[in-house]
Formats: sequence, C-alpha cells, structure tokens
Amino acid sequence: MEKVLFIAHTDADGNLPKAALETLTAAKATCGDLTVGLIGADVQAAADSIAECGAEAILGVSGDAFGASRYSTDAAAIEALVKQAAPEVVIAPNTARFARSMPGAAFRCGGKIDTHITGMFREGGKLEVQRWYYRQRMSATLSREARPWFLLLEGGLAEAFSGAGSAIVQTVDVAVDNVRTEVVGVQAPDSDAQTIRPEAEVLFVAGAGWMKKQADGEVKIKDAEEIILGFLDKTQASLGSTKSLVDQEAEGDVLNFMSHMNQVGQTGSTPRHNKGLATCCHGEEPHTVGWRFINERRAISLDANCGWAQGKADVLYIADAFEVMKKVNELL
Ligand SMILES: Cc1cc2nc3c(=O)[nH]c(=O)nc-3n(C[C@H](O)[C@H](O)[C@H](O)COP(=O)(O)OP(=O)(O)OC[C@H]3O[C@@H](n4cnc5c(N)ncnc54)[C@H](O)[C@@H]3O)c2cc1C
Repeated sequence: MEKVLFIAHTDADGNLPKAALETLTAAKATCGDLTVGLIGADVQAAADSIAECGAEAILGVSGDAFGASRYSTDAAAIEALVKQAAPEVVIAPNTARFARSMPGAAFRCGGKIDTHITGMFREGGKLEVQRWYYRQRMSATLSREARPWFLLLEGGLAEAFSGAGSAIVQTVDVAVDNVRTEVVGVQAPDSDAQTIRPEAEVLFVAGAGWMKKQADGEVKIKDAEEIILGFLDKTQASLGSTKSLVDQEAEGDVLNFMSHMNQVGQTGSTPRHNKGLATCCHGEEPHTVGWRFINERRAISLDANCGWAQGKADVLYIADAFEVMKKVNELL
C-alpha cells in the first residue's frame, strides 16, 4: 500500500474538528497505518486525542502563526509536512481552511488534488475515490497515477475516531517571515442568528406557503416568523427554504432571517441531516432533489396531490402547517 500522510488542523480550542476525526477513520480503514501531520497554535492536545491511531509518526507544525486559517501559513505548513513525510497519498478533511490552502500546497508539492470526496475504497488493491459532479447528479469513481495525490474528504464518511492517549509529536519547523496577512479576529453572526446548522439532527424547510393568503384571506408573516423561529430555537434544527420563498426577498415583505443561502434543491444546497420536515412546500422535483441525503422525510402541506405525496416523503400530513407547527412548538 502507498505511504499515506493524514493532515489535520486544530479548531479554536486546540482540538481536532469532528470532520478530521471522521477522515482519520476513513483513511485508516482504506490505507492502514499512516503518518499524521497536525497544524495549530499548539498541537499536543490534538495529538493526544488520537494517540492510539497507530500512526508511524505524528508530525506537528505549531506556533501562534498556525492557530488561525491563513493561506500563506497553512500552505507553507502543509508543504513542510509533505516534504518531511514524503507520502504518495495525502488525506485531509474538506474543511473551509483546507479547501482554501490544500490546492495551492498540492501544486507546490508537484502533486494533484481531488476535493469533495464522498467515498474512498480499494479495487484490486488500487486506491479509488468517489465524488459527485453536476450538483449531485452524477457520481464518479476515479483513481490517479500522479503522486503525491491529495484528497479532501467530506464529513460523514465514517465514525469519528476515538483513541486518546499520550503522543510524542515530532516538530517540523516552518519559517514565518514574509507573512503579510494579519488575522485580527473573526466576525460571525450570533449563533442564534445563524440558521444554517450542518451538524443539526433535523432540517426544517419552509416553503412559499408561509407567505400565501390563508383560509381567512390573510397573509400571516408575523405568525410565520414566530412559529418558524420558535421551532428553530427549541430544536436547534437547521433552516432550509424553497426557491420560491427566498426569491420573494426581492418583492419586499419577507422573512428577514431567510436568504438564498438557505435554499435547498437543484440550484441550492444538498444538506445532510438525519431527518427533514418540509412545511408549506409543494415538494417539486427541483426542490426535493436537494433532499437526497436526508434519511427520514416528512412534510406538511394542504395539498394532497403535492409532490411529497408522489413518493417523495415517508410521511405526509395533509394539514395546515400554521396549526400543526403551533401545536408542535407548544409540545416542545
Ligand atoms: C431550473 C430550476 C431550478 C430550480 N431549483 C430549485 C431549487 O434549488 N430549490 C427549490 O426549492 N426550487 C427550485 N426550483 C423551483 C421549484 O420547481 C418550485 O417552483 C419551488 O420549489 C416551489 O416552492 P414552494 O413549494 O415553496 O412553493 P409553491 O409551489 O407555491 O407551494 C406552496 C405550497 O404551500 C402549501 N401551503 C400553503 N399554505 C399552507 C398551509 N397553511 N399549510 C400547509 N401547506 C400550505 C400549498 O398547498 C403549496 O403546496 C427550480 C426550478 C427550476 C425550473
């Protein structure tokens, strides 16, 4: 088997992100023992957390300059780890930080890179990977002769690795002269203003029905807002939307916590959650195609002939979503 280097960076607390631990399990399952390379302000705690992974060596690039995501220092750190370990295959999680820095580092190392990998296995001993093309419509299995071959793996491919102990980290020195970008802080919305939560158990989708005239002839935007935010607050579900609902943003009075980032579907996102609940949504194919990674699907619609009724949902409630969700929130 090839010589493999698994690379991970720490999070703000000095731990390894879940995506890194899942990637480690997947890498071990396919490639056996590997060398580990860690990047962070201080990598000892991260190394200890995976001490029992059977690595041939744990290399570390550490120091304040490597605490935050920054292309120049991350690419330099990856390059140094690859030069030290001289691997044929480099495997890392597809985090935002590595999505930014790994392609450049692969180029510097004279290698090739494939990103968004959703499967990794061996066919006749040969390493093969899987990824989607054309917005999750075509799945390709591919392999490459070029080495080193860099692979960025999506989350959720394997269980997170667990096996803590006491690790010995071999320090790899990387010069940090010539750094022109200073990380002064992080600006992020409040956590309760952030409605897209990839780690959530449940995806809650709101459709255009929330903005339509209801049986009494009234449009009830304030009620809709209260019900949807109430549900999100109580369950910490992730908020998705149909295209029709987010497109109404251009028309004035809308749900102000909703943006095109929430759109699920063919021209939106394809999130991964264990369960999904669609409300006031018709369940048309260009929308439901974005549900392909939702395991258990339920929908609430007034229309008994909607798309959800045509085999798109496991359970469909023909009911008024305002009424049902009010009751659900009360019960929660
Ligand atoms: C090329 C292309 C790409 C597209 N990409 C996407 C995409 O990425 N994502 C996407 O979502 N769409 C996409 N669409 C649009 C898609 O085809 C649908 O038009 C859209 O999903 C409809 O949104 P909706 O179900 O919210 O609205 P509507 O079709 O207007 O349905 C609203 C539903 O709400 C129900 N309703 C109303 N009041 C209530 C109530 N009180 N309780 C319960 N139910 C109620 C109604 O019965 C109705 O079924 C795309 C279309 C095209 C052509």
